[in-house]
Amino acid sequence: MLLNPGPATTTNTVKMAQVVPDICPREKEFADLLKNMRKDFVDIVHGDHRKFTSVPFCGSGTMMMDVCLNSLLPANKQVFIINNGAYSGRAKEICQCYNLPVVELKLQYNERPELNAIEQLLLTHPDIHMIYTTHNETGTGLLNPVSEIGALAHKHGKVFVVDTISTYGLLPIDIEKDNIDFCMASAQKGLASMTGLSFIVGRKDLIEQSEQYPLRSFYCNLFKQYNCFEKTGEMQFTPPVQTVYATRRAIEEYFQEEEIPKYRRHMRVHQAIRKGLEKLGFQELLEEKLQSGLIATALYPNDANWDFMKIHDYCYERGFTIYPGKLFDTGYFRLCSLGAIDVPDIEAFFKVFEKALQTHNVKTPIKY
Ligand SMILES: *Cc1c(COP(=O)(O)O)cnc(C)c1O
Repeated sequence: MLLNPGPATTTNTVKMAQVVPDICPREKEFADLLKNMRKDFVDIVHGDHRKFTSVPFCGSGTMMMDVCLNSLLPANKQVFIINNGAYSGRAKEICQCYNLPVVELKLQYNERPELNAIEQLLLTHPDIHMIYTTHNETGTGLLNPVSEIGALAHKHGKVFVVDTISTYGLLPIDIEKDNIDFCMASAQKGLASMTGLSFIVGRKDLIEQSEQYPLRSFYCNLFKQYNCFEKTGEMQFTPPVQTVYATRRAIEEYFQEEEIPKYRRHMRVHQAIRKGLEKLGFQELLEEKLQSGLIATALYPNDANWDFMKIHDYCYERGFTIYPGKLFDTGYFRLCSLGAIDVPDIEAFFKVFEKALQTHNVKTPIKY
């Protein structure tokens, strides 16, 4: 049972879907599979197929951040990054790597952006072409107001790119109503499939325009990958074959469960986690009103016997993986509600977790 922030716990049927006869991915059968999958990726965020397309790559989620940032910026234009967490910080590092000029709205980890502050920066920096934000800052579980930021972006004629890697397939997203031009995902998070397949969902017209922009990466260029799919139905380079089969199965299970019931399941798992933590006396890093409902954070106790790794190992040996936070001086750990899990799994987890605390003489209720 994975309670870490991705990869997520998968169903046995998704695991087994990887076991297929050997196939060369250049066969038509495989191209057809990818063609349907590209449509499904757009459907999951309710995109209109005339305006939106999806472009899969063989890589982890960070590759999609890289692809969007390096491919969608014309020469001499700026990227505006709303930075209130580790993943937006990573986006900034990617820009630095390509020497892309960045305007940054730097906030605290527990601070949502003020729309006024965004607008001020847009007015004083006319060369901004793209606004970039992270939907759910996975390090803390802070949810950003994507739809509001997107409306502002469009009011000023900017392209709006959102890292939805930890929300896609988890929180309901309507790409057009939420004013998103590009979002991204990775098969192993919201869809609870295997690692190695990631994709972008975004506006066709903007991808086509980007052919004119500087080519900054050979492998990670959005137009090149899109163009190859449109012309041949295939990825430019070798796709993650077995992960594609697992993902086809995961998408079937996604549509069987349906968007809203699935969303409700993740929310009730999150509430069960919060309840379990509260019962033991743990305090959370973020106020409830800032939370995405996908990641619970618990501050380390002020107890000489507390040692996260010992608690981790005790739980791990009994089948549960928990995950430390990494952002701050303050120690905390995370329990995430992604994946094929439900409330009884969380109840089973807390039995083990409580035993772990007892075994290692950590006093409950937890002291701070
Ligand atoms: C998981 C995640 C990523 C990508 O991480 P990888 O390790 O490259 O898959 C990017 N952004 C967010 C918000 C994430 O949660």
